[in-house]
Amino acid sequence: MAVIQYGEKEITYKIQKKKIKNLYIQIQNGEVIVKVPYRMKDNTIQEFVQKKAKWIAENLKKEKQKPQEEITPQKIENLKNTIQMATQKYTNQLKVYPNKIRIKNIKYAWGSCSSNRNITINAKLANKSKEAIEYVVLHELCHLKEMNHSKKFWDLVEGCMSDYKVYRKELR
Ligand SMILES: [Zn+2]
Repeated sequence: MAVIQYGEKEITYKIQKKKIKNLYIQIQNGEVIVKVPYRMKDNTIQEFVQKKAKWIAENLKKEKQKPQEEITPQKIENLKNTIQMATQKYTNQLKVYPNKIRIKNIKYAWGSCSSNRNITINAKLANKSKEAIEYVVLHELCHLKEMNHSKKFWDLVEGCMSDYKVYRKELR
């Protein structure tokens, strides 16, 4: 994550190196992603982002005002697939196995984990990024080992997904 200053505001952005010729900025779920060619220098990137600061700030604001996006059957299908893949990946790493995973509309959380090892994932995640969904699955699976939010719990999460904080931000 990198930061630029825009007036009183700080804008954080994520850099993704890609096999592309020109850099471009994407705003996705309140996150600023700057896609850059592999060899571009950090200060060149920063200069570019700084020049676009006004545009970024305006678009971030616009996105916040957008009404809740609709959840389509296709999005639910994608959500199911992502959950399945993430479950496979992280149960292997953590050696923990949930009883059942279901998708439901829940009100106050993105996911939950019960003492009988059932995991519920919020259907509204269908509108979030793949990484954010993976993070929620991982979070709930870690609760099968640690039923709290202790340091041990967060170490477990971080051990499987070193940049989880980026995706957790998307879910605020
Ligand atoms: Zn939790």
